[in-house]
Amino acid sequence: MNTEVADRESDEAAVLEEIGALLKDPQYEGNPLRPFLQRLYQLHRRQSDRLLRLVRISDGYHGMARHNSDTLAARIEREVMRLKKIARISDLYQRQLRELADALRDASLTDPLTGLRNRRYLTDRLREEGVRAQRTRTPLCIAIVDVDHFKEVNDRYGHDIGDVVLCNVARALEGVLREYDTVGRWGGEEFLVLLPDTTLENGFKIGERIRARIAELRIEDSERPELRAISLTASMGMTVLREDEDVFDAVGRADTALRTAKHAGRNCCHTA
Ligand code: GH3
Ligand code: MG
Ligand code: MG
Repeated sequence: MNTEVADRESDEAAVLEEIGALLKDPQYEGNPLRPFLQRLYQLHRRQSDRLLRLVRISDGYHGMARHNSDTLAARIEREVMRLKKIARISDLYQRQLRELADALRDASLTDPLTGLRNRRYLTDRLREEGVRAQRTRTPLCIAIVDVDHFKEVNDRYGHDIGDVVLCNVARALEGVLREYDTVGRWGGEEFLVLLPDTTLENGFKIGERIRARIAELRIEDSERPELRAISLTASMGMTVLREDEDVFDAVGRADTALRTAKHAGRNCCHTA
């Protein structure tokens, strides 16, 4: 068997193994991309088996060709051409499989409502940034932002408008943050913000900008002008990771600071 085909086969085996594991992972159960991936996976397997059978036939022909006539060589040539065509199709399947697998992985780390990163992503990111901050001895600022009295928005305007408001808050947060900061949806109407290489003092300034931006938000909808009356505030708890501290203990402290901000009357940022 030639090396090109052998390389492709080992590549393929790795991809198939990866996809097979993804499909078995219960966390993707119910994901809309999963049935497509499953179908493509089965198609690809059938195609792969066919390709393998043809490679074996072709190897046989090659052996015979050394002892036989030109006509047979021509037939082999045709068979090789056919094989190459099938190999190209197989490459296409592989690419599609990879793209789907990437999309599936990305979807598992994204909040479907706001398009922000989700809690799962944030948990991984917290660990990474925590390790990095300890290693480089740079301050990692962590903030939890919670929309004030959000339940009232839902109660007064309905859950769908509540969803629109959450998307607007998400865009406002993204608008304030720098490229190397991270923001994601921590849950419900709570967002987690990670500010690498940022002191508490500078983090507080960013927190105040976030608060101002949320207070300025107006929902523009020409068919529902009454939505313009929605006015929001947010409370925030903020802290900086301490030396040798577990990053999730720091998240707990930011959460306690958030409770303090709520008790202090909301629409403010507390540090701890
Ligand atoms: P507080 O100022 O103390 O934070 O009050 P709150 O009303 O914001 O907080 P509370 O925890 O009482 O209510 C949060 C509400 O957020 C309740 C829940 O139904 C709503 N919520 C959570 N997730 C979503 C969502 O995805 N969409 C909508 N529309 N509402 C959500
Ligand atoms: Mg709230
Ligand atoms: Mg909350």
